[in-house]
Amino acid sequence: MVVGVGIIGASLADRLTRPATGGGAGSRDEVTIVDAEGPGAGTSGTSYAWINANDPEDPSYHRFRTAAMSTWRDLAAGFGDPAWYRPAGNTVWATADDAKSRLADRVARLTGLGYTAELIEPARLRELEPHIRPRQDALIAHYADEGFVHGGSATRALAERACRAGAALITGRRAVRLNTEGDRVIGVHLDDGRDLDADLTICAAGRHSPALLATAGVALPLVDPSVPGSEAPCLVATTSPADVVVNGLVHAPGLSVRAAEGGGLVLESVELDAGVDESASLALMEMVGDELLARARALIPGLTAKIAEIRRCVRPLPLDGYPLIGAQRPGLYTAVTHSGITLGPHLAVLIDREIHGHAAPELAPYRPDRADRAAS
Ligand SMILES: Cc1cc2nc3c(=O)[nH]c(=O)nc-3n(C[C@H](O)[C@H](O)[C@H](O)COP(=O)(O)OP(=O)(O)OC[C@H]3O[C@@H](n4cnc5c(N)ncnc54)[C@H](O)[C@@H]3O)c2cc1C
Repeated sequence: MVVGVGIIGASLADRLTRPATGGGAGSRDEVTIVDAEGPGAGTSGTSYAWINANDPEDPSYHRFRTAAMSTWRDLAAGFGDPAWYRPAGNTVWATADDAKSRLADRVARLTGLGYTAELIEPARLRELEPHIRPRQDALIAHYADEGFVHGGSATRALAERACRAGAALITGRRAVRLNTEGDRVIGVHLDDGRDLDADLTICAAGRHSPALLATAGVALPLVDPSVPGSEAPCLVATTSPADVVVNGLVHAPGLSVRAAEGGGLVLESVELDAGVDESASLALMEMVGDELLARARALIPGLTAKIAEIRRCVRPLPLDGYPLIGAQRPGLYTAVTHSGITLGPHLAVLIDREIHGHAAPELAPYRPDRADRAAS
């Protein structure tokens, strides 16, 4: 059973109901997926959803993410070029001297790791993104293999395929606690009073995972979004249908932009998230929305679209930033991570292998109890 049908839970359900391949199960499992709302209703549906391995800092994690990008390509090919998968490249630029030198260094290090990264001239940017106008003196980088998904639609497509392959989907029901027998987790208790039994319960409840796990005395080192100054809460805006086209992802100083489903743009600025908390007032959200739109209009002359929606969302943010993946008790497996959009399908492949008795050494650095083990 999988609790939570965001990108992680949906990728898992899909994988666990696919015909068996190499390292997976010999025969497919009976899979039940449960969501308090519905597939894609959580963070995955509001995510900026950039698929990337753009950070060279930790080469091992970079390789893990590069493998995840490749898993996405294979997965999407199996759906036959779905509209929710957009491998359209990513353009980033810097204007301040220190930011330029960091960007040049990043491109050099990523290239050294064999990643597709290059510095490009403004003329090339105009070919890639004809409607975007960076500052004249910008240093511009392009990453052709990166892209994004429309997180809600991708999640729903995976959940639907899992259901067609036999998974049972329960929506609108919250798992209020893990049921236990001694040390073993034997399933969940739902908010309608039902108990669902399972040989294995996989907690993929994203940011809500700590609350569910705590009902069996299990801890998960995730950033608490209610703590003032937490980096987990953020705001993401979507515009009304735009009369301009943004082909790939664009990361300008102070603004990230990509196409939204339905013809609008998704706008995000990490810098404007400072001071945003879970209970951000409507007035603050409107103010941030106005600022995002002003920045978008400066970047994209001719943009007349308005803010259609601005949403508060919470990143499931592990304390050290790395995925939290693995068995936490007999009968209990946890799969929670930031960058879940990039990593979801790849994690699903590895978890499928691991829970069916085949080692997945790639997951070894990401065990949820790593901090405790390191301390002892
Ligand atoms: C603004 C923003 C930008 C981001 N940008 C990127 C990016 O560019 N690239 C990237 O890779 N990642 C990005 N992320 C992170 C990424 O979106 C998340 O890591 C990912 O969506 C998490 O997926 P999930 O399936 O774990 O959680 P969710 O999508 O939140 O799914 C969890 C599901 O569990 C359900 N649930 C919770 N508790 C229970 C319960 N007790 N019982 C039943 N159901 C329950 C919820 O209803 C929900 O549907 C971003 C996140 C945000 C917020």
